[in-house]
Amino acid sequence: MIDKHVIIVGAGFSGAVAARIFARANYKVDIYEKRGSIGGNMYDFKDEDGIIVQKYGPHIFHTNNKNVLDFLSSYTSWNDYKHQVKGYIDGKLVPIPFNLESLELLFSKKDAEYIKKFLINKFGIDKRIPIMDLMKEKDEKIKNFAKYVYEKVFNNYTLKQWDLPPEKLGEVVMNRVPVNISYNNYYFSDKYQLMPKDGFTALFENMINRKNITIHLDSDATSLFKFDDKKKRILFKGKPTRDIIIYTGCLDELFGYRFGELQYRTLDFMFELKNSKSYQDVAVVNYPNDERYTRITEFTKFTSTPLDKKTIIMKEYPRSCNKDDIPYYPIEIKENIDTYDKYLKLAKDYKNLYPLGRLAQYKYMNMDICIDNAINLAEQLVKSNR
Ligand code: FAD
Ligand code: UDP
Repeated sequence: MIDKHVIIVGAGFSGAVAARIFARANYKVDIYEKRGSIGGNMYDFKDEDGIIVQKYGPHIFHTNNKNVLDFLSSYTSWNDYKHQVKGYIDGKLVPIPFNLESLELLFSKKDAEYIKKFLINKFGIDKRIPIMDLMKEKDEKIKNFAKYVYEKVFNNYTLKQWDLPPEKLGEVVMNRVPVNISYNNYYFSDKYQLMPKDGFTALFENMINRKNITIHLDSDATSLFKFDDKKKRILFKGKPTRDIIIYTGCLDELFGYRFGELQYRTLDFMFELKNSKSYQDVAVVNYPNDERYTRITEFTKFTSTPLDKKTIIMKEYPRSCNKDDIPYYPIEIKENIDTYDKYLKLAKDYKNLYPLGRLAQYKYMNMDICIDNAINLAEQLVKSNR
C-alpha cells in the first residue's frame, strides 16, 4: 500500500534518480518540472535521420563509480565511447588536454625534447598536472612553456566561459583540464566511459516509467510553495505539508531572491546542419582564442554510424545568466558562496526540504556525482523514514 508521498522539483538526473529510489520503496512520487521535457540538461532527441542531438550541450558519461554505472545500466544499454577533444591553437589542431603530442606539434623539436624530458623526470610519465602548478616551475624554459599553455589554452577560453581569469576561479574549475605528460589523447581518465545507446532521454524515460511516479511538465514549482518563516513550515499548494521535498532548482529563486541573486553562467547554443559526412576530426573542438564561441560539438561523432551527407554541429556562446535564462554553471567564487550559504542556512530551517543537485547545491558537479548524491540522499531518507 502506498502511504508516503514525496515532492520532487526538477526532472534532471538529481530529481529523476531520487524519484526512482523513492518509487522503489513504494512512495507516491510527484515530479514538477518547469521545462516541457524530462532529463534537465541531459535532454536529447533524435532528428528525422536518427542523429541524437543534445539540446543543452555535449554530455558524455564518465565515472570511476561502479555503483553509479550499475544503477544507470538498469535503464539503458551502452555504446563504448572515449571522448577526444582538440584545440585550435596557433593555426593547428592539437590534443586537449595539452599533452606531449600537442607539445611536439607546437614547439621546435629541440625545445619539445627538453620540455618533455624535464616533465617526465620531474613528474613521471602519464601524470596529469594542473596548469597552475606548472606555472610555479623555476626552470626558465618550463616557465615559458607553462606561460604559453596558460595563454593559449586556458586564459582566453576561461575569460569567454566565465568572464573571469583562471586564477580567480580556483581548482574546482581549473583542475578539471590538466596538462597531460603522456601521448594519451583522451579527454577523461575515468575507468568507465560510455554513451547510452538510445540517448539520455530514453534512459530517463525508462527510469521514471513507474506507476507511482507522476511527472508534471511545464510546472514551475516556485509558485507552488510558500514559506511560513515564523512556524518554519512549508505550504504546498496552500496547505502545510510535512512530505519530503527534494528541490533541484536554484535556492535564490525558491526563496524569492531575498538575499540577492546567485550568479550563474548560461550558454547560447547555435546549431548548424552541414551537408557532408564529417565536419571535424573529433566530437569536440575547442577554440580558446579565435572565436566568440568556446567549442564546436559534432553530434554524429558520438556514435559509430555517421550519415553519408549530413552532420550536425553546435557552437557554444557563454554569457552571464539573467533570471529568464537557464543557469548552467554556478560561479563558485567567495562572494557567491557567501550568498549561497545564507540560502542554505535558511533552507535548513525547513526540516522536510532537501536541496539536491548542481543548481540547489551550487556546485560544479559532473553527472556521476549528482547521481551518486541522489542515490545516497534518497536511500538515507527512505531508511530513516521507515
Ligand atoms: P539539471 O540537469 O539542471 O536539472 C534541474 C532541473 O530542475 C531542470 O530540468 C530544471 O528545468 C528544473 N527546475 C529548476 N527550477 C525549477 C522549478 N522552480 N520548478 C520546476 N522545475 C525546476 N556532466 C558529465 O558528467 N559529463 C559531461 O560531459 C557533462 N557535460 C556538460 C556540459 C554542459 C554544457 C553542462 C552545462 C553540464 C555538463 N555536465 C556534464 C554536468 C551535468 O549536466 C550535470 O551534472 C547534471 O545534468 C546535473 O543534473 P541536475 O539534475 O542536478 O540539474
Ligand atoms: N578550459 C580551458 N581551455 C580548454 C578547456 C577547458 O581554459 O580548452 C577551462 C575552462 O575554464 C573551462 C574549464 O577548464 O570552463 C573546465 O573545462 P571542461 O571541459 O571540464 O568544461 P565543461 O565541459 O564542464 O563545460
